[in-house]
Amino acid sequence: MSRADRGEAPAGPSVLSPGVAHPHRAQRPRHPGPALGDALTLATALIIVTIGIWVRRGGWASVTGGVWAESWESIGALTGLLATSVALIGIAFAARTHRFERAIGLDRALLWHRWMGETAALLLVTHIVTTVIAFASLSSLRDAIVQLTGEKQYMAMATVGAFGMLLITVLSLGFIRRHLAYETWYFIHLLIYASLALAFAHEIYLGSDLAFDPLARAFWISVSVIVLLIVVVSRWGKVIRSIARPLTVLSVTPLNDVAAAIELGGRNVSDLRAAAGQFALLRPLTSKLVWQPHPYSISAAPRVDRIRFTVKALGGASDLMTRLPVGTKVAVEGPYGTKIYEALRGEKLLLIAGGVGIGPIRSLLEDFEPDSEPVVIYRARRAEEIVHYDELVSLAETRNGRIIPVIGRTIELKNGNPLDPDVMRRLVPDVAQRIGVVCGPQPMISAAFHCLRSCGVDEDDIHFERIWW
Ligand SMILES: Cc1cc2nc3c(=O)[nH]c(=O)nc-3n(C[C@H](O)[C@H](O)[C@H](O)COP(=O)(O)OP(=O)(O)OC[C@H]3O[C@@H](n4cnc5c(N)ncnc54)[C@H](O)[C@@H]3O)c2cc1C
Repeated sequence: MSRADRGEAPAGPSVLSPGVAHPHRAQRPRHPGPALGDALTLATALIIVTIGIWVRRGGWASVTGGVWAESWESIGALTGLLATSVALIGIAFAARTHRFERAIGLDRALLWHRWMGETAALLLVTHIVTTVIAFASLSSLRDAIVQLTGEKQYMAMATVGAFGMLLITVLSLGFIRRHLAYETWYFIHLLIYASLALAFAHEIYLGSDLAFDPLARAFWISVSVIVLLIVVVSRWGKVIRSIARPLTVLSVTPLNDVAAAIELGGRNVSDLRAAAGQFALLRPLTSKLVWQPHPYSISAAPRVDRIRFTVKALGGASDLMTRLPVGTKVAVEGPYGTKIYEALRGEKLLLIAGGVGIGPIRSLLEDFEPDSEPVVIYRARRAEEIVHYDELVSLAETRNGRIIPVIGRTIELKNGNPLDPDVMRRLVPDVAQRIGVVCGPQPMISAAFHCLRSCGVDEDDIHFERIWW
């Protein structure tokens, strides 16, 4: 139990004190409750009701009735309804509702969102193919395509919507996505709302399951409106609130030739209820950056009046971030990320950071008690890349821990690569009894994960942020 939980007095200077006890520390996020279970129950219920609507209208009887065209048409109807249901679930997962995001983390929420999107696209393709087969078996392929794409106004709209959804899915495939700028991909991605809206009318007015069943139609419209409201209130409400109540750049301190510590302040910091280990989407309200929210991790445990991020210039936006003038307004959306410190409390810790991944590790260190005896392995290619070193050493010392900087490219380390299980066991003999936290680039996360597993650390005891983009 932490000192704050026990109601004890704060101790020592701010940077060294166990953060939870500090009088100026911002409030922690509230407990998320059983949000994950609730969300999965609702999603499952929607799928079951969707299938129920189809069965009620004789869908199963048509599939097994022996009439070829009716069977295909019925499969097409079911896959069309399911494609929309799954897409709505996927959109709700990405809506960043506070309780759901806090329960599983934005990284997992967005990964689930991607899987739902891919599943919806597969169902959509099946819907299109089976419906074309059904219509073609009654006339010709050419007539079927004309009928299904342009003969009725709603079908033309649905055709455009389907193209939109498939385009978004294809552009989100890893090997294509990698070649696109994040912003290009993101703004095309937003077309999903228009695509679903275009498809909506043909479901309601032409779909055999909804057009002739007022109850099912009312249910379908209600679910769509609820998801729309969740998106507007949660997803876009967060954006609007962050822009309406921005923080101000208090200082930008260069740490080396590419990284800077950015401190933001203002009356609204405590409202964020941010915690060490979390991250936020920063949107500087300047003409170039206002369209570009970028994720950055909190690099010092938040105080009531200030919050710090450590930014490395990797591309256009991050380069501008490291040179923001003092006084610039910055919209801060979030914070996001699970309350990782709760899982770490009272445990012995092994923290592995790569490059600027030291930011969240640095902030988490403030939250640990002396019994955590944290060992921090800090990987950097060059000595000049090491940042916040003095702070790290001070924090580790007061928590009976140590910092192990490992400098050089992996191929140059030879027998000194700490992510080699033998080297790791030598550096941290009790590694198997520790909880691992890894922050850094994806290849380092994978290498650290495999190393810790080989050293006997349980899978559930290795924490890392999954790459979602
Ligand atoms: C959860 C999380 C925490 C992060 N914490 C930090 C941190 O504390 N310090 C730090 O320096 N960097 C951090 N990053 C990385 C940082 O967000 C990127 O370096 C930054 O967005 C690069 O943008 P750019 O336009 O300068 O570069 P670009 O060249 O445009 O992009 C470089 C890389 O960042 C990705 N990226 C760009 N914009 C976004 C976005 N809005 N969302 C997700 N990925 C994006 C791109 O796909 C590309 O892989 C974090 C990233 C994530 C996902």
